[in-house]
Amino acid sequence: MAWFKRSKENIATETQKKDVPDGTWIKCPECGEMMHKKQWESNLYLCTKCSHHFRIGSEEYFSILLDENSFKEMDRKIRSIDPLDFEDTKPYKKRLEETIKSTELYDAIRTGTGKLNGIDVVIGCMDFGFIGGSMGSVVGEKISRAIDK
Ligand SMILES: [Zn+2]
Repeated sequence: MAWFKRSKENIATETQKKDVPDGTWIKCPECGEMMHKKQWESNLYLCTKCSHHFRIGSEEYFSILLDENSFKEMDRKIRSIDPLDFEDTKPYKKRLEETIKSTELYDAIRTGTGKLNGIDVVIGCMDFGFIGGSMGSVVGEKISRAIDK
């Protein structure tokens, strides 16, 4: 009986997925509300029904906080080396390469300059999507350079 019920739920999920064009609609993990991506973005990445806070990255934070098109990234391509030859479930070098490819980020923080209501600012934001916001030597270096700036 439990098996039958589960497979029925799976069928319903499959059907729902087919009706939703990829990347156009966002489903709230909290209440299940379906929102158009533009509606969700203009609501600052909160669910329009229950105000659930979605996880967002530096790109979204900069777009919320800074004046339009004012962000200029600093030190974008500083890359981590692997002085400890670290390895957990896979070698750290391989993990870095894969993460750079999948996130199009070079490390767990993006820093830069921009304008906030017309005022010049230096800004930094961690990206959880980059190995959980892993704090290596590059993060430290970029924060230090941002402070110097
Ligand atoms: Zn919701």
